[in-house]
Amino acid sequence: MTCRYCKRSHNYRPDDLIQIFGDMDTDDLARRMKCEQGHTGLMSVESFSPTGKEAVGLRIRRLVAIKIQRIPIWRED
Ligand SMILES: [Zn+2]
Repeated sequence: MTCRYCKRSHNYRPDDLIQIFGDMDTDDLARRMKCEQGHTGLMSVESFSPTGKEAVGLRIRRLVAIKIQRIPIWRED
C-alpha cells in the first residue's frame, strides 16, 4: 500500500486486512485505507504474492490488536 501523497509504502498480509475491513477488492480497500498522516483516498493498493527470494527481507506490517474506541453519547434528561 502506497500513499500517493507521502510516497510511503507498507506491506500488509491480506488476512490481517480482512479482519479489519472484511473481504473486499483492492479498489474498495484503497478507498477505505487511511495513511498514517491521515490522507484518505490517496492510497494505491497493489496485491502480490512474494516468491521465496522476494520474501527475504520484506517487511510486513502485522496486525497487533484492534482497539475499540468507546465514544460517549450524551442526552439531556
Ligand atoms: Zn499520506
